[in-house]
Amino acid sequence: MTQTQTSKLLKGATGDWEMVIGLEVHAQVTSNAKLFSGASTAFGGDPNAHVSLVDAAMPGMLPVINAECVAQAVRTGLGLKARINLRSTFDRKNYFYPDLPQGYQISQYKSPIVGEGEVTVDLRDGDSITVGIERLHLEQDAGKSLHDQHPTMSLVDLNRSGVALMEIVSKPDIRSSEEARAYVTKLRTILRYLGTCDGDMEKGNLRADVNVSVRRPGEPFGTRCEIKNVNSIRFIGQAIEYEARRQIGVLEDGGVIEQETRLFDAVKGETRSMRSKEEAHDYRYFPDPDLLPLELTQDYVDDLAAALPELPDQKKARFIADFGLTPYDASVLVGERESADFYEAVLGALEDRARDGKLAANWVINELFGRLNKEGMEIAASPVSAAQLAAIVGLIGEGTISGKIAKDLFEIVWNEGG
Ligand code: ADP
Ligand code: MG
Repeated sequence: MTQTQTSKLLKGATGDWEMVIGLEVHAQVTSNAKLFSGASTAFGGDPNAHVSLVDAAMPGMLPVINAECVAQAVRTGLGLKARINLRSTFDRKNYFYPDLPQGYQISQYKSPIVGEGEVTVDLRDGDSITVGIERLHLEQDAGKSLHDQHPTMSLVDLNRSGVALMEIVSKPDIRSSEEARAYVTKLRTILRYLGTCDGDMEKGNLRADVNVSVRRPGEPFGTRCEIKNVNSIRFIGQAIEYEARRQIGVLEDGGVIEQETRLFDAVKGETRSMRSKEEAHDYRYFPDPDLLPLELTQDYVDDLAAALPELPDQKKARFIADFGLTPYDASVLVGERESADFYEAVLGALEDRARDGKLAANWVINELFGRLNKEGMEIAASPVSAAQLAAIVGLIGEGTISGKIAKDLFEIVWNEGG
């Protein structure tokens, strides 16, 4: 595949433009306790119900690293085929914010726990691209300021303060909004398979800072703008499209792009300026004197690697090799762990897996998922069990019933159970 496909280029008034996109994804680590305290990470508690003295930054409190958060970051690094750094350090990123009582965020700056890796991203047309991962580091989340609870005051909820985040930084390898959406979708799938982040974007557990620039094909990278905190995959696509068009407009009018931070307004579908580079913070990063460097052994990393689940790419390759599925069908099945598990349960119940595996995939995708989608139902609520679907597919496979009769049978089972 060529680097610059004409279909991905944007037409401007003066010729073609190419988008260059890199994403910084913030993924909340799945763990019971926060990164440096024992307070609960449960969502939806009463305001300030999950706040320890450490999270409230009482004087003299000391952070203690949560080993499970470290393990989750390493698992994620392994899932991204990335280099695990056996030595990493924590720094203070200093800034004032009402919902950041420490006056700094503990983050990893110069030495992150995970280095370079890559993600294979499947596109709709059956093509795939590789997006490089620059790094993954651990950091604390901030609390939340509430401006709509009181007529004259803003309130602060620290439940989220100190919860562990993984910041996953991509290389600027993405060239269209479709690729960006597919990248985040794939990253989310990998995290969910690994069990290291639930990927719930509605709760803000996965959100992205989107860096966008444009250039003439073949030219060096242009100046980028960073759109902060976009919290849905659809919005990521919309923000990129709008922002690339805006930059092209500025450049074609003879202007220059200033590096700046922007916000996406989901109601208007626009991005707007938040702060320019000149007003950008100087965070005065320095090593946190309360935390020793984090040192891991290769044995520890190897043990975590040995216990990783089968990941979507491996599963997809296995479905294609063993049952002759098309890459597209295999992608659909592995897109959610629950879908893959259901298909595997059907395979397990088939009498002749080699003969009927591919047919079973068609039935799972088209008949079952199609029907569940139509009814707005989850797989877990399917009235047709994996064993029942396997029985129907087996009857077609051995030639006892036709596809048409099988559909009637499916209908009966769907409505009345087995
Ligand atoms: P910083 O640390 O200042 O935020 P980085 O170099 O780490 O900057 O890049 C942050 C993000 O911006 C990365 O995801 C990277 O891929 C992306 N990026 C860097 N340069 C460009 C560019 N010219 N256009 C689009 N994205 C870019
Ligand atoms: Mg950045």
